[in-house]
This record gives sequence, structure tokens and C-alpha cells, in this order.
Amino acid sequence: MANQATLILIKPDGLKKSLTGNILTRLSETKLEIVAAKIARASKELAEEHYQHLKDKPFFKEIVRYICGELHNRRKVMALIYWGEDAITKCRQLAGSTNPEEADPTSIRGSYGRITTSGVYENVIHVSANEADAEREIKLWFQPDEVIVNLYPTKEVAGKERKIKTWA
Ligand code: UDP
Ligand code: MG
Repeated sequence: MANQATLILIKPDGLKKSLTGNILTRLSETKLEIVAAKIARASKELAEEHYQHLKDKPFFKEIVRYICGELHNRRKVMALIYWGEDAITKCRQLAGSTNPEEADPTSIRGSYGRITTSGVYENVIHVSANEADAEREIKLWFQPDEVIVNLYPTKEVAGKERKIKTWA
């Protein structure tokens, strides 16, 4: 099996419940390499793009609000890229099923997830489902310079004279 990359998001409920350490410890069982990591804020546009495959579902609006942090008053996620052999299967296995009540109780979602009274699966973590999704999602959440390996082809574009912020 060739090396794969997967996007992991610790969702706003995972951050609010102080689960970052626990989740990263669980994921370290995979022996995969972390090749990018940051705290990021999902705009509505980014969230809608991220969940575009679910845009016709009745719960779409709620999961967009969820990943943006509006349900937890915590407008951030931790975004990471895990890389190595069979990364997607390994991470999805540790994450467990989408529905936290159906997830293996020892999995991350089984241990820490819940279903809200309005029916949203608050399952503390996102893991890309397959290689095509992983590539699409990684390109949404990260720029090439933020990743320490070359995952996908890049191109150089002439910098339009644009101001960048630096430390004063
Ligand atoms: N979700 C939900 N109810 C559903 C299906 C999905 O609340 O019936 C939420 C859940 O938080 C899930 C996310 O929408 O993680 C994305 O759904 P997907 O089917 O992509 O599941 P995943 O790949 O996250 O396991
Ligand atoms: Mg998915």
C-alpha cells in the first residue's frame, strides 16, 4: 500500500471538551507522520465547500454551523495532515463510525461523541473518507507552504504586488 495523506479536523466540540491531547494520543497509535498542523477558523464558505457532498441533506445547515463553531461558541478547529501507509483506513478506524452511538465504544467517536437533541452527530473529529476527498479537503484547508512534504503538484505564480503581514 502506498503512502496516503488524510485531513484530520478536531471539531469545535473536541476543542471545547479539551480533547486535543486525548485525540492526538489515540492517533499516535497509527505511527503515521504529522506533516502539517494548525488552529484554523472555518468561514461559512470553507465549511460549505468542505461538506459540499452533503449539501442536499436536511442536516447540511446544522453541520456547517457545527464546523464553524457556532454550536459551541468556539470558532476554531485544529487541522492536521497525517501521512503514511494506509493513512485513511487507519485514521478512520480509530475515529469510528459517523454515528457516535453506533461507533465502537473504544473508538474516538464512540468514546467522546454524542447526538444532540436536534439530531446532529457531534463526533469530535473529521477524517477524510478516501484519497480523492483527502486531496480536495487538504487543498481547501492548507497552502503548499504549510505542509512539509510535497503531497500534490504545485505551481509558481508571479506574486502580484500584495502586502503581507509580518512581525513588527
Ligand atoms: N452528520 C450528521 N448526521 C448524519 C450524517 C452526518 O450530523 O446523519 C454529520 C457528522 O458530524 C459527520 C458529518 O456530518 O461527521 C459529515 O458526514 P459524513 O457522511 O461525511 O461522515 P464522516 O465522513 O464524517 O464519517
Ligand atoms: Mg465524510
